[in-house]
Amino acid sequence: MLSTLNIFFLNICIIFLVLSVTFYLMRNRLPIQRDSKFSTRFYFGLANGMTGILLIHNSISLNGAYIDLRLLPLALSALYGGPISIVTTGLLLIVYRIILDTGDSMIALQNSIITLVSFVVLVLLCTRFIKQKAALFTVIVTIGSLLVLVRMLSSEAENNAWQSIYVPYFLITIFASLLFYRLSGMLQEHFVLYSYQSYLASTDQLTRLANRHVIMDKVAVLEQDQAPWGVILFDLDYFKAVNDQYGHAVGDAVLRHFSVLLTQECPDDVTVGRYGGEEFIAILPNTFKVSPAQLAQQIVSTVTKTPFVMQDHALSITVSAGVAFARRQSASIVFKQADAALYEAKKNGRNQSHLYSN
Ligand code: GH3
Ligand code: MG
Ligand code: MG
Repeated sequence: MLSTLNIFFLNICIIFLVLSVTFYLMRNRLPIQRDSKFSTRFYFGLANGMTGILLIHNSISLNGAYIDLRLLPLALSALYGGPISIVTTGLLLIVYRIILDTGDSMIALQNSIITLVSFVVLVLLCTRFIKQKAALFTVIVTIGSLLVLVRMLSSEAENNAWQSIYVPYFLITIFASLLFYRLSGMLQEHFVLYSYQSYLASTDQLTRLANRHVIMDKVAVLEQDQAPWGVILFDLDYFKAVNDQYGHAVGDAVLRHFSVLLTQECPDDVTVGRYGGEEFIAILPNTFKVSPAQLAQQIVSTVTKTPFVMQDHALSITVSAGVAFARRQSASIVFKQADAALYEAKKNGRNQSHLYSN
């Protein structure tokens, strides 16, 4: 009894572990739905197949027979990923049974595969007609348990096998299904929220650029690596006048306009972000690949050449930029130097970039 309980909890741990790792790795693809990308549904089917294999491998010994909970990952695949996922899970389990699990007789193997294929086909039919998740899950688990019963009755099992084996199997399956259903829903919801919170914590909501926090993390890594890097600080010119003349909403739209230009102009390895109100930043990890001074100048002229277009007229905007290099000095010094260079650019008439030199 104790060892049965022990294996049962081991099974629950397997389910919990594989499910948590899967949802964590797929956190940017959640929630998994029948119209998710093909690859998402396929990976989900694979992960459930892995759970199924581990569950078969850790089957529960019950009054002389071995039962396992492979029904649950199959049901989960059907529930969230639909046909692609359940077929993938089913195929993985069949491959495992044929190639790796050589302990059974040929007849037992055949029966097991026939049961599995019938189950997948029946479930596929159900997924077409039942759209409500809880109802679908209940129906799938019922079909699976009934198929196991049919298989048991048609085999040469002892007369009282259905009492001593099937009833406990059924109870264990129902209990585990309820747990599994709740757990999968809760875990998925948790990782959806986790991804959303990470997104909110790292992104500036107005421009969708990286926020100051992400920029400082990036800089801390560069500083630790002691590799040369460059920084460009941008500050829109006379931006207060834009707000005063056209209103705050237009001001916001101009900030978005500038952030699009900035992203377009910067190569992929440059991190761009919003540093403060109308101040933006670009961090160049490898100053030898792209010259920060050149990039800053290029962005200043692109902004001048690309007015912000409103309904009735185009609004010219300009930006000033301060550039500094990090060699041995600390990040705070580099930022002060970029700030000093920006001040020079403003002082010299704006709409230009200035490279810090001492
Ligand atoms: P300078 O050329 O010297 O930089 O002049 P400026 O007017 O751009 O500088 P100042 O620092 O005086 O003004 C910045 C303005 O940016 C003031 C503030 O209201 C505005 N601002 C800051 N954040 C936002 C924002 O999120 N949306 C809008 N619309 N305006 C903002
Ligand atoms: Mg400013
Ligand atoms: Mg400004």
